[in-house]
Amino acid sequence: MNAMEANDLRDLYQDLILDHGKRPRNFRAVPTANHEALGHNPLCGDRLNLYVTVDNNGVIQDAAFQGSGCAISVASASMMTEMLKGKTAAQAAHLFDYLHNACTGKPADANGIDSDDIDRIQALSGVRDYPIRVKCATLAWHTLQAALKDEKKVSTE
Ligand code: ZN
Repeated sequence: MNAMEANDLRDLYQDLILDHGKRPRNFRAVPTANHEALGHNPLCGDRLNLYVTVDNNGVIQDAAFQGSGCAISVASASMMTEMLKGKTAAQAAHLFDYLHNACTGKPADANGIDSDDIDRIQALSGVRDYPIRVKCATLAWHTLQAALKDEKKVSTE
């Protein structure tokens, strides 16, 4: 890849983050959700309520959120809700592993992850150059883990 292509790719990823940050998907409260949690990142002030509906087979049928925070945290939550539908908790945990490694510059195992999901995660992984932003990018995922374990609140500290 030459430098020009790398720049184009970065712009593309930035567009994805800006788009999700401005027009978050699945931005709604779900009173009937069977798992929910409140996530808080005190370093940046990001807060989100996550609502997850899991069926009897352990498959995530719906994921939605509300809250406020920086563009990275909102975009990450928005993209996460898109990624979760149809996945099991184990698949979601694998995605989080992959995202966490990508965001901290560690080797990430993409085996079994959809290419759409890899694109979204690659877009977020630009935060690896800004360690404080890693907490913004992973807040929604920490909140998901808390929700699935029926812990009501999680803080990144
Ligand atoms: Zn933030």
